[in-house]
Amino acid sequence: MSKNSESSDPIFSVTNWLDKNLVVMHPTETVAAACRKMHDNSTGAVLVAENDSILGIFSERDLLNRVIAQGLNPEQEQVATHMTKELMTLDENASPDDAMALMLKQNIRHIPVLKNSQLCGVISARDLLRRYYNMLDQQNHDLRRKNLELEGLLHTPPDDRIALILEQNEKLRRMAMTDELTGLYNNRHFQMRLNEEVERARRYNYPVSLLFADVDYFKQYNDLNGHVEGDNALRAVGRILQNFSMEIHISAKLRKTDIVARYGGEEFVVLLPYTTVERAIDVGERLRKSIYDYPFKNEESLPDKNLTISIGIAGFPSQAQNAEELVRMADSALYQAKNTGRNRVCRYSPH
Ligand code: GH3
Ligand code: MG
Ligand code: MG
Repeated sequence: MSKNSESSDPIFSVTNWLDKNLVVMHPTETVAAACRKMHDNSTGAVLVAENDSILGIFSERDLLNRVIAQGLNPEQEQVATHMTKELMTLDENASPDDAMALMLKQNIRHIPVLKNSQLCGVISARDLLRRYYNMLDQQNHDLRRKNLELEGLLHTPPDDRIALILEQNEKLRRMAMTDELTGLYNNRHFQMRLNEEVERARRYNYPVSLLFADVDYFKQYNDLNGHVEGDNALRAVGRILQNFSMEIHISAKLRKTDIVARYGGEEFVVLLPYTTVERAIDVGERLRKSIYDYPFKNEESLPDKNLTISIGIAGFPSQAQNAEELVRMADSALYQAKNTGRNRVCRYSPH
């Protein structure tokens, strides 16, 4: 877990729960003065210090056990005489559970907390109770909400109940295969379909081609226009690839079997069943041009004054022998497209 997420987690560090209102007293002050300070500050303990050095802690329990139970007069007793001197301390990174464990083990209710060896507060059993209570309250709230949902389901007629569950299942199934940003298939679904398609092509003896596309100079586009515009550009690229794939299928009257997916980052894949490498190059070239022609916002900021993609293509079984090799070869062809100037389509070649 990163430092940031730790500090943004309200229950992680003990420092989020301690009483930062430090009440400090001089050792020669009286027990009665300590009681007044505890009362005024609504705290159960005061720190006893002299010249910036902590000598001990005086708590309600010290008052009861060491002063009242002994019949001593609080107005005449000094806190130094009755405070607890062997101080247990905790580091600021300790968790509330660490604090609780130490309190139970040592039978104490207040522990000073240090940040870079400097005192930053005192964690008390009361602070921890508040924290555990909040957690339980939240859990209770979640459980009640779940219960209400379940009750709602129980009062739904059986047929509707099944329809509801099926609907939820379908939603989950879609979510599991969809890339959130672009709405295209995600990499996981692509890998699954790739294997299926290649095996089917092998069985029925037809070609499959893979297009591997990568946006050119996209880091610069992000740097110059910000990530929000970057995301918009990726969505547009995704839309163009998807629409294009639908168009060619409608015009060729083929059943729609293309798989267009976001491979990751600014990389996309299009799997074309029943398509030879030669025809895939034609498709890739038209795709490249569609992206080139699309007016992306502020694309003049890029080196070629245009947002473009490079495409690598490989085919099964003419080049690759299996799914894994198909990806590797298309990726290698993409590398070649990048190396020979970008904004171009390259087919895999072993050299
Ligand atoms: P090349 O032409 O060689 O492909 O250069 P490039 O800058 O496109 O490639 P590089 O791999 O250096 O940088 C890819 C950039 O894509 C960096 C990263 O910030 C950006 N990127 C990846 N995923 C996302 C995303 O989901 N949203 C946005 N806005 N940017 C992304
Ligand atoms: Mg890339
Ligand atoms: Mg790129």
